[in-house]
Amino acid sequence: MRILVVEDELKAGDYLKKGLSESGFVVDLARTGPDGRHMALHEEYDLIILDVMLPGIDGWHVMQDIRKTKDTPVLFLTARDAVEDRVKGLELGADDYLVKPFAFAELLARVRTLLRRGPPREEALIRLADLEIDVLKRRVTRSGKRIDLTATEFSLLRLLAVRQGEVLSRSLIASQVWDMNFDSDTNVVDVAIRRLRAKVDDPFPRKLIQTARGMGYVIEDRG
Ligand code: CA
Repeated sequence: MRILVVEDELKAGDYLKKGLSESGFVVDLARTGPDGRHMALHEEYDLIILDVMLPGIDGWHVMQDIRKTKDTPVLFLTARDAVEDRVKGLELGADDYLVKPFAFAELLARVRTLLRRGPPREEALIRLADLEIDVLKRRVTRSGKRIDLTATEFSLLRLLAVRQGEVLSRSLIASQVWDMNFDSDTNVVDVAIRRLRAKVDDPFPRKLIQTARGMGYVIEDRG
């Protein structure tokens, strides 16, 4: 079993490499975001342990790039016990996370669980009524008719669709889609939803994007 550890802190990286090697894994260590991304994309690993705060490219971007082509399990390490960080990491396609500092035994338990579980079956095709989202090809159709979306519109639609039936608040949408907190200006979300509706819902009789008054938005087929 091969594991890639992407960790810039020297002691932590060495410690992880040593501990995992002693536990029987073959371990490669990358110390920067660009190196980690390069190795993750060009080598085959059974698992990637990814620190979030990295020089060069942060762990979020490394993960996004990995997920464009690979479904290798990713365990990310976050220094902050922030709910948004965890949600963000999992949204970006990570499989699990650990908050630093953690006990090595805990890491090892998570690693073993992830390896037993195998690569996640991330849904490549999301369906809702006559809407189809091909996540890998980034293609969206309704009733077989192609819908062209901007990158932001696609991210927004995907987020809603992955969590279909669940009301998502404007601030959650803002943090997930724009990578920022728009606490003061969630109008941005309303504008983007309006644009998305114009393409995804307006030309079709069945409306899928619903407004949950005072709460946010949800995508669901209400028939
Ligand atoms: Ca770090």
